[in-house]
Amino acid sequence: MFNCPKCNELLNYNVKICPFCRTDVSKKAAEAEKAFEAEIDNEEEMILNVFKRKRIIYFIVCIAFALIGHIICLIASNSDNLRFFAGSMIAIALGALILIVLGIVSGAMICPYCGKFLYRNHLYYCGNCGKRIW
Ligand SMILES: [Zn+2]
Ligand SMILES: [Zn+2]
Repeated sequence: MFNCPKCNELLNYNVKICPFCRTDVSKKAAEAEKAFEAEIDNEEEMILNVFKRKRIIYFIVCIAFALIGHIICLIASNSDNLRFFAGSMIAIALGALILIVLGIVSGAMICPYCGKFLYRNHLYYCGNCGKRIW
């Protein structure tokens, strides 16, 4: 929507002649539509940037979890205490679960456009809505 430059009525982008004052608004309509599209592109870029940052932070958290899990594994496998070993494995499994929940809650594993859960293969484009996510 844009305003007629002469009578200031609100018009659709596909209007060529203003129905209120008969002014040729085709040029103005094209300009307004272009500006509107640029605004949308800008908005999507901002969403994408926020989402990228979320994913990077999440990726770092994942690495930290993996490292901690690895250390726990090393300590547990060198221990003769079976209970400690079992407890460690449960802790690691819980950690993995927490990571998945964290990914969903923080939005790092959710498409910012359609809200669908992103699987591993949805690296650059959302498998559901097809929008660029990286
Ligand atoms: Zn007009
Ligand atoms: Zn999507």
